[in-house]
Amino acid sequence: MPFYDYECKDCGTTFTEEETFEEHERRRNLKCPECGSRKTRQLVPAVYVQTSKKS
Ligand SMILES: [Zn+2]
Repeated sequence: MPFYDYECKDCGTTFTEEETFEEHERRRNLKCPECGSRKTRQLVPAVYVQTSKKS
């Protein structure tokens, strides 16, 4: 199962959720486990970061 990293915009907590791809598609904004805020954003996993530089 893939892991997704999230960051809370309110308190700055980062947390990791284990979700299936289906679950991830359904969920938009996760609740922060620290303060309960839904102002969370997903941190882009390093594996998905593309470098478009060609040298
Ligand atoms: Zn929070």
